[in-house]
Amino acid sequence: MFDVAIIGAGIVGTMISRELSKYKLDVILLEKDNDVANGTTKANSAIIHAGYDASVGTIKAKTNVEGNAMFDKLCEDLSVPFKRIGSLVIAKCEEEKKILQELYKRGKQNGVAEMKLLTKEEVRQMEPNLTEKIEGALYAPTAGIVGPWELAIALAENAVENGVELKLNSKVTNIVKHDGFYRIFSDKDYVEAKYVINCAGVYADKINNMVNSEGFEIMANSGEYQLYDKNVGKLSNSIIFQCPSPKGKGVLALPTVHGNFMIGPTSEYVSDKESKKTTREGMDLLYENIKELFSEFPYDQIITSFMGLRAKVESQDFIIEETNESSRFINVAGIDSPGLTAAPAIAKLVLKILKNSIGELKLKESFASTRREVKHFMELSEKEQSELIEKDKSYGKIICRCENITEGEIIDVIKRKAGATTVDGVKRRARPGSGRCQGGFCSPRVMEILARELNVEMDEILKGNKGSYILMRRKTENDHWSEDNE
Ligand SMILES: Cc1cc2nc3c(=O)[nH]c(=O)nc-3n(C[C@H](O)[C@H](O)[C@H](O)COP(=O)(O)OP(=O)(O)OC[C@H]3O[C@@H](n4cnc5c(N)ncnc54)[C@H](O)[C@@H]3O)c2cc1C
Repeated sequence: MFDVAIIGAGIVGTMISRELSKYKLDVILLEKDNDVANGTTKANSAIIHAGYDASVGTIKAKTNVEGNAMFDKLCEDLSVPFKRIGSLVIAKCEEEKKILQELYKRGKQNGVAEMKLLTKEEVRQMEPNLTEKIEGALYAPTAGIVGPWELAIALAENAVENGVELKLNSKVTNIVKHDGFYRIFSDKDYVEAKYVINCAGVYADKINNMVNSEGFEIMANSGEYQLYDKNVGKLSNSIIFQCPSPKGKGVLALPTVHGNFMIGPTSEYVSDKESKKTTREGMDLLYENIKELFSEFPYDQIITSFMGLRAKVESQDFIIEETNESSRFINVAGIDSPGLTAAPAIAKLVLKILKNSIGELKLKESFASTRREVKHFMELSEKEQSELIEKDKSYGKIICRCENITEGEIIDVIKRKAGATTVDGVKRRARPGSGRCQGGFCSPRVMEILARELNVEMDEILKGNKGSYILMRRKTENDHWSEDNE
């Protein structure tokens, strides 16, 4: 019997797992996919928002500002890329300047520090590549950028190192209430836990409906993006937002933590919660909108496009509460933007709810807040590189030529706790395949390393999700593939 079962290993589920791993609790993290951070956490703007957007007094506003302040220590402890590069909301006319003043006022009420309204000259000085049409901007220096899936992966690794059990490929299909505990069924077996924390993203409504007659509906709203090559990564120094209008927040542009440039997102309600596709209409909308921000834009430097799903609820605020109908069942639902920013504060809020129910929790003396540093070979000094190769020859072999990733780095991310088992899993942890050729050159080499390190056949290696085989062959009698893999 576990004390707590957390459903969903996105940024929210992994953050809560890691928070609870500080205490003497038996915790299990259940995830339907074959890796962590496979849902919305892997496809978003990656912004640590300052906090002027959310309506005053909402859970969103509170957890945004609190969560933002927690990122420096969190990312330093977990060796995750994070940069406070600041954000600018651009105004192009007097009407939009009034909206900036409203945002400024709301930011102040929400507790956002250091904001400033800038003149057009000040904006030009900060961002010379922006269009001449700009009349002013709201500057929020506390905004930042992070590696979202890297953070979730690091949190899972650290949580597992501190005793949390991570169960992948475990889709929760039913939950049955018992006296004092829940039996949580997956497609294969079940686990029992005294508390359930529902962090299932766009499926949080389904999980809630398994035990509660009252609930909420999660509507999936897609956001499409384009990622650009590193040679245009310095197009802006900060995060650039269009001025929000009744039509929405508009398209934003930003450098990524790895030095690429990104534009997006669109906003469209979709019925398919498994959809990952980008559309012609979405791409055209991005092309149209980006013209409003930059006088010249390097469209030909695009390297890929992707899409993420926002988990929208009618109330527009996060739902973080123990349900009235089922005690010890906690919903963490409707976590759309700024859920990534808010996640550390959401985890503290969930801990508070748990403590209110269980009573004081005992801290684990053995809790380790840091994980082994992730070494990026190309970022080391020549001396450090030579020392590393001396110790381990695999660091002397480049596998990904675009990003200069060595075999040693790939082996490391396979061997870590909550380590990579697929080509995409390796890509998200060590970055081979993230560059210009998008894995055209290195994918077969990554597959070879995965097969060797996991001691499986090459044709068992998946690109990403279940069933995404890359190589095909006829099945023989000696094959040990499970039914699941077919
Ligand atoms: C277009 C877009 C842009 C965004 N930009 C930002 C931003 O810049 N800054 C910011 O702060 N936030 C942003 N967000 C919001 C942020 O990405 C989300 O709030 C956050 O990723 C949600 O994390 P999550 O863990 O709740 O959901 P997810 O990452 O979706 O995780 C839920 C997990 O639950 C699993 N699951 C579902 N059903 C089951 C089941 N039955 N059994 C077991 N597991 C299950 C899923 O597989 C998934 O791994 C953006 C979102 C989108 C879509």
